[in-house]
Amino acid sequence: MSALRPHQLGLCRACHQFIKPLERECPHCGANVLRAALDYQERHDMATRAAQDLNALLAELGLVSPHS
Ligand SMILES: [Zn+2]
Repeated sequence: MSALRPHQLGLCRACHQFIKPLERECPHCGANVLRAALDYQERHDMATRAAQDLNALLAELGLVSPHS
């Protein structure tokens, strides 16, 4: 069996369809896969930092444990 499993495939961050790992343009929605992935990563990082900042602020205020 050499069939690709889902985690070996890429994912188009624009339409959330599986694509071949080296695909540059999504065959489903035509998006630039790399650009869409970078945008997704940027938003994800921003959300992660915002959550960390919020947790730090809450910890500073003694509302949550810093290790939660
Ligand atoms: Zn797509």
